[in-house]
Amino acid sequence: MNLLTPDEKEIVDRIDAGYDPALLPRQPLPLIPLAQLYARDVPDLPCPAGTDMLQVLWCPLDEITDTPSAVHLRWRQSTSVRNLLTHPPEPSFIGQGYYVPEPCVLHPEQVIEYPAFHELDDELAERIISRERELLQSPDETQPGYRGDLSVAPGWKVGGWSAFFTFRSPAGPDELRCCGAPLEPLLTIASDEWDGESGSWRPLTEEDRSVDRTPTQVEIGRGYTLQVYRCTASQDHPPVTIMQ
Ligand SMILES: [Zn+2]
Repeated sequence: MNLLTPDEKEIVDRIDAGYDPALLPRQPLPLIPLAQLYARDVPDLPCPAGTDMLQVLWCPLDEITDTPSAVHLRWRQSTSVRNLLTHPPEPSFIGQGYYVPEPCVLHPEQVIEYPAFHELDDELAERIISRERELLQSPDETQPGYRGDLSVAPGWKVGGWSAFFTFRSPAGPDELRCCGAPLEPLLTIASDEWDGESGSWRPLTEEDRSVDRTPTQVEIGRGYTLQVYRCTASQDHPPVTIMQ
């Protein structure tokens, strides 16, 4: 029994057939909206003078992880945004379905996070490690752990520290520079909003533990994060992305 309508069957057949790279569109693909943030909701948003919102767009292909032109930042004055598109253009091809975000309304929460271990000086890192060793010997679940509960909050966020490095080494000083000026984390695009096991960093508004911790449905690599860095000398300089 065929449960699909003819239109649905045509779509499924097309997916099953895969694609021929030679048939991919040659013209530039439309960027798709990824995030829209207002300074009134995100007090730490580093808006250039005369702007109060940030629009982030990207090209839903694997190039987002290493091609600067695949992620675009648009700093705007919200009152100047007119003529909203009711049907934004859709790309005729996307690299991965999980680069197309599920529309969500943001409820930003301001948190304090501490830097990842690789950012700490040796003496401080050693003190923290010896404290964690003590905790291992007499476990106390009320005591927060440095990595899981105190440093580098997971989830989508503005600002904060460089994420933990996973499959690669921490970015060197040259990699985190643009035109001689240092780069700093602007936006983190995460595969999960919080730790599913401990619930650490779960937003106060999400007390129900069954709530989906990937509301955007965006996934970066195999559960990594993509950090978008901005140049501290000029907001006109293109962002740098680092997957980790
Ligand atoms: Zn620069």
